[in-house]
Amino acid sequence: MLKKILAFFVIILFAIIFIQKIDKKEVAAIKEIEDATVIIEPVKKDKIIKIEINEQATYGYLMKEAGIDYTDYTAIYEAAKPLYDLIKIRLGRFIDLTFDKNTEELKQLSYKIDSEDELIVSKTLIRVGSSSEEKVTWQAKLEPIPYEIKIKQTEGKIETSLYEAALEKNIDIRAIIELADTFQWSIDFAMDPRVGDTFKFIYEERYLNGEYIMPGKILAGIYVNDGIKYELFYFEETEDNKGYFDVEGNSVQKMFLKAPVAFKYISSGFSYGPRYVGGQYQRFTSSHMAIDYAAPAGTPIRSVGDGTVSFAGWSSAGYGNLTSIRHNGTYSTNYAHQSRIIVKRGQKVKQGDIIGYVGSTGFSTGAHLHYEMLKNGVKTNPLREVLPPGESIKEENKERFFESIKKWREEFEK
Ligand SMILES: [Zn+2]
Repeated sequence: MLKKILAFFVIILFAIIFIQKIDKKEVAAIKEIEDATVIIEPVKKDKIIKIEINEQATYGYLMKEAGIDYTDYTAIYEAAKPLYDLIKIRLGRFIDLTFDKNTEELKQLSYKIDSEDELIVSKTLIRVGSSSEEKVTWQAKLEPIPYEIKIKQTEGKIETSLYEAALEKNIDIRAIIELADTFQWSIDFAMDPRVGDTFKFIYEERYLNGEYIMPGKILAGIYVNDGIKYELFYFEETEDNKGYFDVEGNSVQKMFLKAPVAFKYISSGFSYGPRYVGGQYQRFTSSHMAIDYAAPAGTPIRSVGDGTVSFAGWSSAGYGNLTSIRHNGTYSTNYAHQSRIIVKRGQKVKQGDIIGYVGSTGFSTGAHLHYEMLKNGVKTNPLREVLPPGESIKEENKERFFESIKKWREEFEK
């Protein structure tokens, strides 16, 4: 009896295992069919290959590696050349190659040449003469990179420096550099900031395929410096007049930049205002009628305004390598102790142009820029000079301006 019962259980057991196996096979079979359906009718898409530009890779080498015909990649090179020389492709960037979904042939090359524009070279067929014969040509164009824009608002308070405030608030430092640049006609970020200064600004963030890339335009900003509020708004009056304006619609651009060293070079290196003054670097006094910027040797020096170089060379008066720029009949500026001068006498310069580099030549005990401003030949404190502003918004466009900044002003009120 026991044997019979045992045999019965064994049979049941085998039966269960057998059924399960069938089940699995069936499931597998169904799955195969499902997979097969997907494979049989795929939605055809152009294939895009991203090629990273690595060290020592040249355009020709990368294209050959990607299996592109010599005729094609030289034709692409020639088509692109008037807009962008593909010899200059940069390490770490990408070349995107698009292959046609039907023919699998290369139909487009694209490359982001900088943060703003993308080079696109596409294959086109043109008819030869009146015959039906078609010839392959490549056509190049530059297009703005199609970023997705998000608007962001942020604010902070200066405890040590603007740079530190940005780090503390997790603000992209590139946005802070942009912000400082928009205020560069009214605030000298090496000398003016004080503990307790506050800032608030609204700016664009750029994304590509959902991934954060970089900050974009500053749309509006407030910086309260030592109790004085500076406010500015971005506005495009016309194709030629776009930039930053105060609440009244006056341009914030002035004849002179507030400082001959850009914020991005002074941002992390040394501290601000009265705290750093002392020792060998001096502010404007009756015995030192100039401003010293303690910046590392090699820091670029920019001309604070448009003008003509009236002196560029060695000065025996202790200035070392000196550049003088004549801005108009009234004003000129001097930049002393440079390690290197990169302009020549008689040369025209634009506001913000790099004219040389910080050094310690002449009577100088450490790398710094000694900066002087002369008004009618007399040394004057550049931080005190109130200089004529740039172009204001025309009466007929003011309504449009007020309307466009309304939302930002409301945000600032919050
Ligand atoms: Zn000095």
